[in-house]
Amino acid sequence: LGSKVALALRKMTQATVIDQTVMNEMLSEICKALLQADVNVAQVKHLREQVKRNVDVEALAGGLNKRKMLEQAVCNELCAMLDPGKEPYQPKKKQPNVIMFVGLQGCGKTTTCTKYAYMYKRKGFKCALVCADTFRAGAFDQLKQNATKAKIPFYGSYTETDPAQIAAEGVQKFKDEGYEIIIVDTSGRHMQEEALFEEMEQVAQLTQPDDVVFVMDSSIGQAAHEQATAFKSKVAVGSVIITKLDGHAKGGGALSAVAATGAPITNIGTGEHIEDFEEFEVKSFVSRMLGKGNIAGLMEKMKAADVDLEKQAPEMMKRLQSGQWTLRDMREQFQAVLKMGPLGNIMNQFPGMSGLDFHESGVRIKKWMTMMDSMTEAELDETKSFAPSRIVRIARGSGHHPQEVVELLEQFKLMQTTMQKTMKKNKKMGKGQMDLH
Ligand code: GDP
Ligand code: MG
Repeated sequence: LGSKVALALRKMTQATVIDQTVMNEMLSEICKALLQADVNVAQVKHLREQVKRNVDVEALAGGLNKRKMLEQAVCNELCAMLDPGKEPYQPKKKQPNVIMFVGLQGCGKTTTCTKYAYMYKRKGFKCALVCADTFRAGAFDQLKQNATKAKIPFYGSYTETDPAQIAAEGVQKFKDEGYEIIIVDTSGRHMQEEALFEEMEQVAQLTQPDDVVFVMDSSIGQAAHEQATAFKSKVAVGSVIITKLDGHAKGGGALSAVAATGAPITNIGTGEHIEDFEEFEVKSFVSRMLGKGNIAGLMEKMKAADVDLEKQAPEMMKRLQSGQWTLRDMREQFQAVLKMGPLGNIMNQFPGMSGLDFHESGVRIKKWMTMMDSMTEAELDETKSFAPSRIVRIARGSGHHPQEVVELLEQFKLMQTTMQKTMKKNKKMGKGQMDLH
């Protein structure tokens, strides 16, 4: 979804004169991308009408202004579409918060429970996991394995067959031991089975959860609306987590469908690993979808993966903090990221690189690295733009087309602007420097 919408917007950037006709074309492309991502037809139609109503192209002066206005209008509408306008439950410190996970079998509950616990553990909460899935063979072993890897205490049983009983015991034990976030993983079955909902109700009755998290697989697209509504009508769903957003073009459908039920989405799962978990923030999600990148999210991920830029690239951090950011810094950052390997799908969080998978962005970054290897030391520190003769020389030296060098330089400009903006914002917030620890 991201890459297609970004592409439509990029085309618009290249059109020098933006009039009603160009704007209509752009809107059509954006809408086509949204429909392909399985966003509901009525929602797309609404978005189109709203944007048309809110942007008066003829009345605006410069081409750049018009583009910005249109981009902003699309962005606002997408945000409105995805924002349920309701605050999810916020776990509180120094008291037990019982969080029950529900969802169909295979949607990613057990995986997500551990990711959730791990996220709160990093935020300083005392977390524990309870396995109340007695339905699926091996369910306890799976949770045990995940929890052990993440160094999170767990509770479960190989012999007890009543899930509500185990859940109650586990929750009580961890409450007594002063745990702050106690996560109850339940069994998911198939939608048609009445037993699933009965079991959910019993577990909820005995554990009295503070929040019920509904986990949903994004690959079901539009059907998400019906599923989310069904669960909401049976249990007090307070938050939604959408999983497997890494591999699916249909993600847009699931997100908008769930948002339409009015349940706040708190997180999204973007891979099988424990770090592939993001807090869902409508604005940053949309701007990333539109190709603007999410530096804050990137920093989060680096933090999670223990990449310490202060240590690994102290010079770069110094320059970054003073508002300078050069090609040399970009190269260093790419190197650091490549070193992390497939730990997280980090690269598509760089501005201008959303929508690429890990492999694609890796290939692109490696290509850029070879071009930067063909630059002189002075060029790596250059702040002015490159003369065409230099671009041709770098292209020849690295075996690439001059247009590819131009693309690298555009990518650099984009990242530089975003970096400087992020640093400024952090400074304003009184942090003084980027918080990487
Ligand atoms: P449960 O039956 O609801 O507990 O689902 P599991 O946690 O056992 O997950 C089912 C499968 O989905 C496993 O193979 C997980 O690794 C996979 N999975 C879970 N979340 C994600 C995700 O965000 N992305 C991807 N690609 N796979 C996921
Ligand atoms: Mg499970």
